[in-house]
Amino acid sequence: MAFKDVAGNVRVKRILKLALDRDRVPNSLIFGGPAGVGKTAMALTLAKTLNCQTLTADSCDACPSCRAIDEGRHPDVMTFAAEVRDVKIEQTRLLKQMAYLRPMLGKRRVFIIEEAENLNDASANSLLKVLEEPPSFTHVFLVTASPFRLLPTIRSRCRTLAFSAIGREEIEEILLERDFSREQARILALLVDGNLERAQELAWDDVQALKDEAWSLFESLASSDRASRFLERFGALPKAVQEEFGEVLEVFSSFARDILLLRLGGDPSLLLNPDLEGRLRATSGSWNTTQILGVLDEIDRALTDLRGNFNKGLLAIAFFSNFTELTHV
Ligand SMILES: [Zn+2]
Repeated sequence: MAFKDVAGNVRVKRILKLALDRDRVPNSLIFGGPAGVGKTAMALTLAKTLNCQTLTADSCDACPSCRAIDEGRHPDVMTFAAEVRDVKIEQTRLLKQMAYLRPMLGKRRVFIIEEAENLNDASANSLLKVLEEPPSFTHVFLVTASPFRLLPTIRSRCRTLAFSAIGREEIEEILLERDFSREQARILALLVDGNLERAQELAWDDVQALKDEAWSLFESLASSDRASRFLERFGALPKAVQEEFGEVLEVFSSFARDILLLRLGGDPSLLLNPDLEGRLRATSGSWNTTQILGVLDEIDRALTDLRGNFNKGLLAIAFFSNFTELTHV
């Protein structure tokens, strides 16, 4: 993937292009920002460009060097596997030794550490010397969704590239190029909240299942005798379903917007969930505008908090009590 093919984050690309044009790419960089926005793809593209045999400001994706990096078999470009929860001390020791060896094949040696927030103190400390006095031919790229969890001593030795979520419209366009209809692409782009990778993983059947689940939770939340179903689902939230909680909230938000639209007598062709029109209409009849706006507010607040460093189970409980207080009057 060349820079022109990496979606979004135009500002980061511009910074990198400028640095490449001047042959001034910093040796230590943090690729920080939300999950699924292409941080690793950008780091790899930069590694390829630094070693490309034909181009200087982008990767050609065709020369032996670009191809070897894409296939993960370039001796000078190492990526530490993302699945490794705790990047092992041996790996950072190896990095430290290799960092001072001239590249074997390419022009630059590049180390990409994914989920760098999982570096333990020993590994981080062993990295420090390399970050402090890197040889001119060596680059270390730390990829992380939580730059604030890196040791301050690490952060202060690196330039940070701040990535942001991919815009909904851009995700929609990318999905349209695949087999999604305009309406499906719109709903899917809404759901993933800027996480392009997630959008590319989801099949329409998954989305439909998520919507069904979300509707049944939404309905039960709004009914006074079944409201606790929501708490059973999200009150004690294991890490694996945290992402799902965010997605359910995004679907809730689309329900609440539709309910508001119907309540205000808007054009039903603008509904985000036209398949649920009958049910949405029934709810819009039983809530007043203040209640609907309150619900929208609560959903937005929960989504914002969810991006922060809060206890997700507690968030779900707070959301539950505010939602039911608003609607069970
Ligand atoms: Zn190339």
